[in-house]
Amino acid sequence: MAGKIRVTVWNEFRHEKTDKVVADVYPEGIHGQIASFLGAEEDIVTRTATLDEAEHGLTEEVLDETDVLIWWGHMAHGEVKDEIVDRVQKRILNGMGLIVLHSGHFSKIFRRMMGSNCSLKWREAGERERLWVVDPGHPIAAGLGEFFEIPHVEMYGELFDIPKPDATVFISWFQGGEVFRSGVAYHRGKGKVFYFRPGHETFPIYYQAEVQQVLKNAVRWAAPVAGPYTDLSRAPNYKANETFTVSE
Ligand code: ZN
Repeated sequence: MAGKIRVTVWNEFRHEKTDKVVADVYPEGIHGQIASFLGAEEDIVTRTATLDEAEHGLTEEVLDETDVLIWWGHMAHGEVKDEIVDRVQKRILNGMGLIVLHSGHFSKIFRRMMGSNCSLKWREAGERERLWVVDPGHPIAAGLGEFFEIPHVEMYGELFDIPKPDATVFISWFQGGEVFRSGVAYHRGKGKVFYFRPGHETFPIYYQAEVQQVLKNAVRWAAPVAGPYTDLSRAPNYKANETFTVSE
């Protein structure tokens, strides 16, 4: 296990329990499918956590062993306890990576990290999406072509109310004419945050090779790097260096 990137895949895990269509697409849950293809990588080890577990499965102990947290939520954002959001935010500021998927754009943790409303346009018509790589040198685009397509998706359109990204890796075009910044990257404190649009629960999107490639790349990009230790989760209590004196 040593040296591997430790990924916790979090899912609210509600649609799969109540909707047969979703359960047929994701019999092990969306989290189960994502943990499965990521965990097959040599340098990644995965675990899962869900909303209905104690502390939503995100105890201090679990987060101690998490390098990158992946977040999928949709119908129950409001049920996520604020104290858990505080806890996750603190971890991110101190270096844990966060990857937010699809309808997670309205999750408490994503809005907290963005500081904006994160609203967007949407339409459920099963149309085609073409994701253009607009930052081909970015590590999250590694191994992809100029673009890739997903045959049937829920459309998300601009305006996406997010702060200006540090990097925009993908811009999507939809059959209906809309466009969307579908892969955006941020630095927050010592941590990295990546939002990736694809992943509607009724389509088998997390089985598609290019989508899986993006998530593998994103995990490796978002993993913490060794650096000077500074606890960025607290306001700094900064004292002047005592050995530094100002001469008159
Ligand atoms: Zn959706």
